[in-house]
Amino acid sequence: MYIDRKGWDIPEISVNVNMFQTKQADKTTTFIDRDISFTKPIPAEQKDRLLEIATHCPISKILEGEIKVRSFVFHEEEVDKNIKYKNDDVTVVWNPELCKHSGRCVTQLPQVFNLKAHPWINVSGADAQTITEQVAKCPTGALSILNNKKEEAK
Ligand code: SF4
Repeated sequence: MYIDRKGWDIPEISVNVNMFQTKQADKTTTFIDRDISFTKPIPAEQKDRLLEIATHCPISKILEGEIKVRSFVFHEEEVDKNIKYKNDDVTVVWNPELCKHSGRCVTQLPQVFNLKAHPWINVSGADAQTITEQVAKCPTGALSILNNKKEEAK
């Protein structure tokens, strides 16, 4: 797209990726080498610009940033139950089995969802509407919400 927009004559780009690891003491370093080549000669400034674009692509940013591998295991008694956090207006229901720890709730509404606090969900941290909207953003369905007034009226 960028090439078309600029009107550059670059009919084809070839990218070869080579991945290897080195070990020093306890540290493993992974290298991902990306070789970019062209089927016909192109000006150096165009190559430089394309290289700059390649280094800013979202995948490069992920790989060059800090990556943490996190593993979680749940005990049977936690998996089998939904855990409820309640105030006068709403009840937030959390299913640990479905929670993939994406952290979306924690980063977007930390006054309610805080992994360092106990309990980790504080339903007094925001109004019912704000909590309801955040619960709806949980990508895995681990969070759901009950309107207590409606539940009582049943
Ligand atoms: S947004 Fe949902 S899946 Fe992500 S940490 Fe919160 S409860 Fe878990």
